[in-house]
Amino acid sequence: MHAYANEHDDAHPHQHDVVNPATEEIIATVPATSRPEADAAVRRAATAQQRWAALAPGDRARQLRRFAAAVDEHLEELAHLEVREAGHPIGNARWEAGNARDLLEYAAGGIERLTGSQIPVAGGLDVTFHEPLGVVAVIAPWNFPMPIAAWALAPALAAGNAVVLKPAETTPLTALRLAELALAAGLPDGLFQVLPGAGPVAGDALVRHPGVAKVVFTGSTAVGKRIMAACADDVKRVTLELGGKSPNIVFADADLERAAAAAPGSFLDNTGQDCCARSRILVQREVYDRFLQLLEPAVKSFVVGDPADPATQMGPLISAAHRERVRSYVPESAPAAIRGEAPAGKGYWYPATVLEAGPGDRVAREEVFGPVAVVIPFEDEDEAVRLANDTAYGLSGSLWTRDVSRALRMSRAVAAGNLSVNSHSSVRYWTPFGGFKQSGLGRELGPGALAAFTETKNVFISTQED
Ligand code: NAD
Repeated sequence: MHAYANEHDDAHPHQHDVVNPATEEIIATVPATSRPEADAAVRRAATAQQRWAALAPGDRARQLRRFAAAVDEHLEELAHLEVREAGHPIGNARWEAGNARDLLEYAAGGIERLTGSQIPVAGGLDVTFHEPLGVVAVIAPWNFPMPIAAWALAPALAAGNAVVLKPAETTPLTALRLAELALAAGLPDGLFQVLPGAGPVAGDALVRHPGVAKVVFTGSTAVGKRIMAACADDVKRVTLELGGKSPNIVFADADLERAAAAAPGSFLDNTGQDCCARSRILVQREVYDRFLQLLEPAVKSFVVGDPADPATQMGPLISAAHRERVRSYVPESAPAAIRGEAPAGKGYWYPATVLEAGPGDRVAREEVFGPVAVVIPFEDEDEAVRLANDTAYGLSGSLWTRDVSRALRMSRAVAAGNLSVNSHSSVRYWTPFGGFKQSGLGRELGPGALAAFTETKNVFISTQED
């Protein structure tokens, strides 16, 4: 235990207050998991996993469907918890809870279809199996606590693994409630555990634990790189879902009214705390002024305020510290091209902000993770591709054009994992999601979701007599 003696200090306390970012009120206090507790959780998970993997696939599917039904029954409660701990508008929070339910159902449906193959060989029979990995550690961020937890949790359990989930310090409540619902729905004790606590303590303990077979990390690129390095020590499997600086590319031949009407949601949804936020708006020069004229009323009419009000489209940022970080990207001296309103008084509010910037400016290169976008003009398709790809990230992006050939050319040329044409939609639980370059490693969701939580084993059986 000696090595852990100093783990609770000012930076890593014994407990975390959960603060409602819209009111600054403390709504809960949650104990922080210590390293020995994390170790014990992994050992319990390993025992539960053995029994879970031995069940018939249909039995596992039935249990996951019961869990999905429990989430469905408590959808309103979970959504309101998300409103209070993360400041998300209630409409978005309902979608998030529904996304967790849908993922559980989708994964349950995949269990009996997770089949291996038989490959023709000479002298025998060759078959492949998908075997569960064992214990999977899921480390989640605060920006979409419920869906992101479910993206890994559901397919990992479906494929026969146990899951130990470490939620973000600021948003542990929905994850803790999901674990209670799983138990109440009949999932075996220890199969899905939630360990609230500090990243460098509980998170690090999981990442380095020899009993953890795979780490699924969603969060910042900086922490993701450290986690990948730590996983290298014992060649742990790792999926990384990291940051983004995605382009929204508007060509002169686009339906400009539609493109401008949709643009605010693409960088203001979730107060811009969205890895897929289209925070670089690239506009063909001949329609640049016209597009900005159309964008201004659309941004200003985005409804900011009480997250519990169904009419609200944008809530507060997650914390005071994060608001300071967002503020640091917006120069005091340079006037914003467009600036929305933000409520005064309590809460970590920040107004929608659009800046005219150069492609080399810090605000145009780094992930702000707030309601801030830059607009940059381009001349032609070549320059649009060059600007779009001039980033270390490659998570998502949008193209607005009426020219089908151009849409296809651009879709192939932009280096990103999730593109949309004449739309900003990125996430569907039945299609693959993940990043190019420093936006991540591996894919979640979609038809390959369960296989990502298995090892493929190939077995050759000789049919020779001697
Ligand atoms: P973060 O990297 O600060 O934290 C993410 C999680 O990692 C938290 O649970 C944290 O406690 C934990 N952590 C921190 N240090 C750790 C360590 N040393 N060892 C183990 N765990 C550690 O990120 P955040 O601020 O919570 O989330 C915002 C970031 O997440 C943004 O960059 C965003 O783009 C990214 N994100 C990516 C996706 C995606 O799918 N690509 C989705 C959502 C968010």
